[in-house]
Amino acid sequence: MSVTIETLGGLSRRNGELFCENVSFRSLAERFATPLYVYSRSALQARIDDWSRGVAGTSDRVFYAMKANNNLAVLDLFLRAGFGFDIVSRGELERALAVGAKGSDIVYSGVGKTEEDLRAALKADVLCFNVESIPELERLNATAAAMGRKARISLRVNPNVDAKTHPYISTGLKNNKFGIAYDRALETYQAAASMSNLIVTGIDCHIGSQITELEPFVHAADKVLDLIEELHQAGIRLDHIDFGGGLGVRYADETPPAAAEMLAAVRSRVAARPAAAHLPLFFEPGRSLVANCGSLLMRVEYLKPTTAKNFCIVDAAMNDMMRPTLYQAEMPILPVVEREGAEVWDIVGPVCESGDFLAKERTFAAHQGDLLVMAAAGAYGMSMASNYNARPRAAEVLVDGEHVYLVRRRETTADMLALESRIPQL
Ligand SMILES: *Cc1c(COP(=O)(O)O)cnc(C)c1O
Repeated sequence: MSVTIETLGGLSRRNGELFCENVSFRSLAERFATPLYVYSRSALQARIDDWSRGVAGTSDRVFYAMKANNNLAVLDLFLRAGFGFDIVSRGELERALAVGAKGSDIVYSGVGKTEEDLRAALKADVLCFNVESIPELERLNATAAAMGRKARISLRVNPNVDAKTHPYISTGLKNNKFGIAYDRALETYQAAASMSNLIVTGIDCHIGSQITELEPFVHAADKVLDLIEELHQAGIRLDHIDFGGGLGVRYADETPPAAAEMLAAVRSRVAARPAAAHLPLFFEPGRSLVANCGSLLMRVEYLKPTTAKNFCIVDAAMNDMMRPTLYQAEMPILPVVEREGAEVWDIVGPVCESGDFLAKERTFAAHQGDLLVMAAAGAYGMSMASNYNARPRAAEVLVDGEHVYLVRRRETTADMLALESRIPQL
């Protein structure tokens, strides 16, 4: 892997020991135990600055896609920086409101919004519903009418563009469940425009995640812009264009474009179209804002060399970090203290599944009791964690210089049992 420690947000090695900002991972393990998610505030701020600079001096807006990492302390940083939020559930709506976001800071995406979801979002007066089907339009119109409200909507169109990423995180191809089919978009807009409690305000696309080239973004932008011209001719005028998220990060040897490059490429396509050139652009980045700012700290419990493979069994597992199992994702694994005697190890957790691995065939010197850090684990890590095998979810800390804030305490078995009831008589 060609990723180096300098490219990992907030991490450094001092006298051979791994640090997050000015705090050693060893001290974090002593204080908070493992497995532990560790976020770097300075790394988060650097990514926030990248995107803020990218939209400075324009009417464009960034809506952080909070499904990547929805810890309240992380959301606070984004809100304070003037970002809005892209949400995909009522739970995320409540998280956004909990940190003080206003409805006008929120766009609401997702294919399966329930009536209760729509009601809650109408009550919060969200800036825009990104609608993905005709039945959703109808339900939203009826719900808004019953509440005496009008809903601002954008249609998420599926531009049928290959994002060139893992199939599970590719969303803009016509065989994906997402969005309105490209060749049905005009008639769907006309249907929306005829509904009395909807206000058509935008167009939206999101073609996938961990996109590491400019070409899919440009291709999708061109197709959306073609559609805007078609809509313009049909008398449908929009107030914004939402290009979604999806910008990739470096986990290994990827070389994704910088946010500024992606923004410039998309803007130059928009500028060439008179029907669209004046419109504010919305972006919904998730991963590119947080992936590189988080680490998963774990401890080696056992070493189990076998004739076929060497297994390094750690106290973190697929329930803490699902990406390797779900997407064959590879993230850097760094020993907190480097030692002599490197061998090749599969790093696996204690969960009873052969799919419970965090990394395969990594070369390092493993020792029972040592600490390991999975870097670039800030996106789709804790937010996808589960209680599988009755494992309490990890704690999360935010490091800021030499300060450490516990931003989510470790879950306990009591927390988990509290939700359940036994039947009175067997
Ligand atoms: C997941 C998602 C995003 C964010 O994607 P990233 O790859 O994390 O940037 C943005 N918009 C929508 C609609 C999404 O579903």
